[in-house]
Order: sequence, then structure tokens, then C-alpha cells
Amino acid sequence: MVASADRDRSADDQSTTYLMTNIVPQAPDNNQGPWAEFEIYCRTVASKGKKELAMIAGPYGSKGVLAKGKVNIPETVWKVVVIMDSPGQVDENTRVIALEMPNSQGISRANWRDYRVSVDSIESKTGYDLLSDLPSNLQNKLESQADKR
Ligand code: MN
Ligand code: MN
Repeated sequence: MVASADRDRSADDQSTTYLMTNIVPQAPDNNQGPWAEFEIYCRTVASKGKKELAMIAGPYGSKGVLAKGKVNIPETVWKVVVIMDSPGQVDENTRVIALEMPNSQGISRANWRDYRVSVDSIESKTGYDLLSDLPSNLQNKLESQADKR
């Protein structure tokens, strides 16, 4: 879920991305297609002057199991990215990109932008309260609409 290429400052940092707690079984067309394209897009945003991107990602649903039931194959993978001009600086104009992407073959050439949803959509499917460090009026504003830029 955390891309190894986002943790290439040191070998120790990078090795943490290969822990099983950071890994879900992902369809190659998802992982190497629009999921990878969005990772590249986020790196581009970071390299163009935005100081900090806060990212939260995970799975939901089930389309089967591996390892005698010990590993779930998620139906969907999702990611929320908060793009800040400076670390910790979030207001009602902060850009938030949330994606829900089917964990499926056949989407290798799909555009990640077509999977944009509201943060509220992910909250309702996962049961998580995302961005919960923000005041509730700010969460309501930032979480209710999908990114359109
Ligand atoms: Mn909400
Ligand atoms: Mn929330």
C-alpha cells in the first residue's frame, strides 16, 4: 500500500514497505495500471512544490482468500491523498484526492481520474473516520466531494 519508491531514502525505510502488513494481493492490471499511474502523479505533485502529501490507503471487500484463508483478496483498493502547501497546513481549499479502484484485471489502461470518489464514500464502505484530526466542519467540507481538477 505504501509504495517502495516513496520510501527510497534508505534501505531500512524501503524494506519496511515489504512487510506483510503493508501488502494486499492486488490484480496486476490495477497495481501496474491506474494505481501506479496515480503514484507517479503524486510524485509529480510533490516535485512541483507541494511540501507534503499525506496518504492513507487500504482495501475493502473480499473476492476470495489465499493461504488457506489467512490472506484476504480485496474487492477494492482505496487511497486518500491530502496535498499541502506546507506540512500540517489544511484549510477548506486544500486539495484532497480520494480513489476507489476495483482490484480487477482489464483496467490496465484506465485513467485513475475515473476512480475519484468522495472521502465520505470510502468512510461509508470501510467504517473508518478518515482525516479525523481535522475539525468536523473542515472534514465535512473536504470529504463530501470528489476531486475534479
Ligand atoms: Mn466524513
Ligand atoms: Mn472523516
